[in-house]
Amino acid sequence: MKLKEDDFYKRFSDEENITKPIKWNIVILVFILALPIILLPEVLKIIYISMILSILAYVLLKVISIKIISSYINKKSLIMHELQDLNKIYTQKFHSVSNDKHDIFMKSKKHFDNVNIDKEAYEVIQLQLYYYNDIIDKINSNRKVFEEYNAKTNEVLINHKNHTQKNKWFKSLEQKAFESEIITPMLNYKLDIYIKYITNIRENTYVKNKAFDLIDIKDIIADILFDNEFKKTYEFHKKSERAKMNDKLRFQVFKRDHYQCKICGTSEKEGAKLHVDHIIPISKGGETTLNNLQTLCESCNLGKGDEYL
Ligand SMILES: [Zn+2]
Repeated sequence: MKLKEDDFYKRFSDEENITKPIKWNIVILVFILALPIILLPEVLKIIYISMILSILAYVLLKVISIKIISSYINKKSLIMHELQDLNKIYTQKFHSVSNDKHDIFMKSKKHFDNVNIDKEAYEVIQLQLYYYNDIIDKINSNRKVFEEYNAKTNEVLINHKNHTQKNKWFKSLEQKAFESEIITPMLNYKLDIYIKYITNIRENTYVKNKAFDLIDIKDIIADILFDNEFKKTYEFHKKSERAKMNDKLRFQVFKRDHYQCKICGTSEKEGAKLHVDHIIPISKGGETTLNNLQTLCESCNLGKGDEYL
């Protein structure tokens, strides 16, 4: 279900990403149109220029008439009035969100070759967890509000289906104007991660790229939160197990082990300094209980470190 929903919204976000190319075609067109003015003989030149001028006049008239018609529609159309009222309310309800692009530069070609983009994304998001959580909230809110807005705009169309002007021409223009005024908020988000490596001589630039959509980011945030929770419980375990050690417990361990080191057997009487040791270290999940504790002399304890015995 979720996947389908996101696919639906992708359609909207993709539209935002269309970049406008340089209008070279217009530059070339103007050049080609100007060429006959220089090349043609006098009589044809006049005909040509008047032809071009009349085309320009036609285009100009059309633009002006569209302006006049649309302002007329905006004034006369009931559905446009209702849509404008809805838009006033909903432009404030939609959050503005923009896609992000993140560059990460690698120290060497080897780093570049072995880089794990997912891991890099994890780190990028971890550093700004609040920001990415906020984006998820905003997009979710936009989707919800957009559904509500869509229902209301449809309602406007249905309510006026039979009441609007009978003029077909007006109706079709009204429909077009209505569609063009419908707000499309940001319904999806994309984080582009670019891994780059520029060689020292600056001759080569290597680039790898991966895009993370809202679902990917949600998954990464879930991983981050899980890892944080794990670290927290681990730290808590370490603290609480250390706090359980006290003189009474220490005495119980020494007594049970007959005041002797469990490894070399030396006793306090022979001058050994006795320690209480965790058999399974706390750092490896061991607990501070009689079963997991043993008596060791100082030198055996230092030799043991964090190793299991
Ligand atoms: Zn010992």
